Amino acid sequence: MSEEVDKLSETLQLLNCPHCNAPINYVLGETLFTCTYCGYTFSMIKEGEYQEIAPGKHFMLVNNYSQTEMREVIHDWMRRGVFKAGDLAEKSEIVETELKFVPVWFVNVSADTTYYGKKKIEWTETRTRPSSTPGGPPTQETIRHVRWEDKSGQFSDVEDWRVLASRGMLLPPLEKIELSVAGKIPFDIKNVSPGAKLINGDVDETLAKKEAESGIRNSHSSRASREVDQVLSINTNVQVGDAQLLTVPLWFIRYKYKNKLYSVIADGSSGRVIEGKAPIGKYDILIIAGIIIAIIVIVILAIALWRR
Ligand SMILES: [Zn+2]
Repeated sequence: MSEEVDKLSETLQLLNCPHCNAPINYVLGETLFTCTYCGYTFSMIKEGEYQEIAPGKHFMLVNNYSQTEMREVIHDWMRRGVFKAGDLAEKSEIVETELKFVPVWFVNVSADTTYYGKKKIEWTETRTRPSSTPGGPPTQETIRHVRWEDKSGQFSDVEDWRVLASRGMLLPPLEKIELSVAGKIPFDIKNVSPGAKLINGDVDETLAKKEAESGIRNSHSSRASREVDQVLSINTNVQVGDAQLLTVPLWFIRYKYKNKLYSVIADGSSGRVIEGKAPIGKYDILIIAGIIIAIIVIVILAIALWRR
C-alpha cells in the first residue's frame, strides 16, 4: 500500500497557475495546461518558464448533453444498426459515464507537391488462331500486354491539420471524427461542465506544428503513390501557418452486457457516437457465415463457367 502511495507522489506533480496561482495537478511529461479556476491556458517550456496560449487562439465546443440525456443517446445507438445483439438496450447496464474536455490543435498548413513516376498500363488482347490440325476448330488466346508510361503531376492542399494534444488518449484517428467546428466559441472555463475532467496536453504548439507538417507530407506522399505505380521523384513544399487550440467535450461510456464490458465514445457537442463496441447478435453470426458461403459458391461457379 505505501509503495503505491510513493509511486503516485512520484508521478503526480504540482504546479501553480502563472495567472492566479491556483494549484494544478499534472503528470510528468505533460506540457499544456488550462487552469480549472481561471481558465488561463499555457504551455510549460521548462519548470518556471511558461508561455500563454492567447485567448484569441483557444476555442471550445460546448457540451450539450446531461448525463441522463447521454444515457438516452447510448440507448438509441444500441437499438440502431445491424449486427448488434437485439436485446442490447434492454439487457445492458451503463456502468460508467465520464465527460472529458480534450484539447486538439488545428494547425493551418498548405502544401504543394510535384511528382514524377511511372504508371503501369496493362491491357489484354484476344486473338483467334486457325487450328494447327487441318479441319479443327480455331483456338482463341488471350495475350497480356504491359507498358510503363511516364507520368508527372502536381497537386496542392490548404487545410487545418488536426493534432491531438494529449497523446495518451485512446481515440480513433482525428480525421475520422466529425467535429462541429463551425459551432466553436472562445474558450471560457465557465462553459466547462461541472464535474467534467479537463485534460492536460503533452503536445505544445511547436510540437503540434511539427506533427502537422510531417502529417501533410505523409498524406501527399501516399497520394502521389496512388497516382503512379512507381514514384521516381517527389518534392513537397509545406508552409505551416497559425495554430489554434480547440477543446472538445467527449463522453467516455462503459456498459456491461452478459458480464462483459464494452466502451463507447460520444461527442458531447453533437451527440454523435464516435466509436462504439457492441456484442453481435445470436443470429447475426449465422447471417455472416451464410453470406461468406454464398460468396464462395458464386466464385466457384464463376470459375467453373469461365473455364468451359
Ligand atoms: Zn488560474
